[in-house]
Amino acid sequence: MIRTRFAPSPNGLLHLGHAYAAIVAHDLARYHGGEFLLRIEDIDAARSRPELAEAMMADLQWLGLEWDGPVVWQSSRLGSYGAAADRLRAMGLLYPCICTRAEIAAVATQHGPDGLIYPGTCRGRDIDPAGAAWRLDMARAVEIAGPLVWEDELAGPQTATPEIFGDIVLLRKEAPASYHLAATLDDAGDGITLVTRGADLFAASHVHRLLQGLLGLPVPRWHHHGLIVEGDGRKLAKRRGSPSLADMRRDGVDGRALADDLRHALLPAGLSLITGIGCVP
Ligand SMILES: [Zn+2]
Repeated sequence: MIRTRFAPSPNGLLHLGHAYAAIVAHDLARYHGGEFLLRIEDIDAARSRPELAEAMMADLQWLGLEWDGPVVWQSSRLGSYGAAADRLRAMGLLYPCICTRAEIAAVATQHGPDGLIYPGTCRGRDIDPAGAAWRLDMARAVEIAGPLVWEDELAGPQTATPEIFGDIVLLRKEAPASYHLAATLDDAGDGITLVTRGADLFAASHVHRLLQGLLGLPVPRWHHHGLIVEGDGRKLAKRRGSPSLADMRRDGVDGRALADDLRHALLPAGLSLITGIGCVP
């Protein structure tokens, strides 16, 4: 059975881009007679606000998107991140790093999908792990995992190339897990069989496939969908004045009609839907 999820972080109000992501996840589950879960990604305790999670649930109901089962709270499974990290550490694949952003910027020369590729300064160094971030030794990880493939419903079969990211951070000083580790473990823990997300995160799936291989997790299929962008080609963002769903709800907009418009890529003036792997704004 197909199971999808919509997984917002309650550190800001949802906008049309989130609505589109939720509709894709919901409609794919319904089309296949599967399940659609709502997961609230609230592990960033400093930025998460309960009233925003409440607003998100109200937004989804207003759009006519019903989720199955109880809401999953990401903060309820912090233990799984630590256990996975212990396992990777025992395999000799994690090392502590104390470099600052400025220090990395001063010596890094190559760019990857997440920005500058970490030059490996702390690899092999004797560093006190207290207060350090933990990085994945990518070359060793790729060697141990061996060749990996994955499949995107729209883009077709893919050969995993996580090495384009270099030695990524998996555990941060200030948060229990990086996006890559948390997303991979949460989707596995929730039994997600079809991972939906924006095409701007297409490359991240190479890393997630690697983590699944290393940790012996089930491998889902992926569906990287298009993005709603502004006239200048940039993603919607609240800070640039994109109205929130909560604003529209309060202004009396018909949420179900809006959802149907989004399904047909009928967008408010000035916005457009772009698709394809290369559509990263
Ligand atoms: Zn370092």
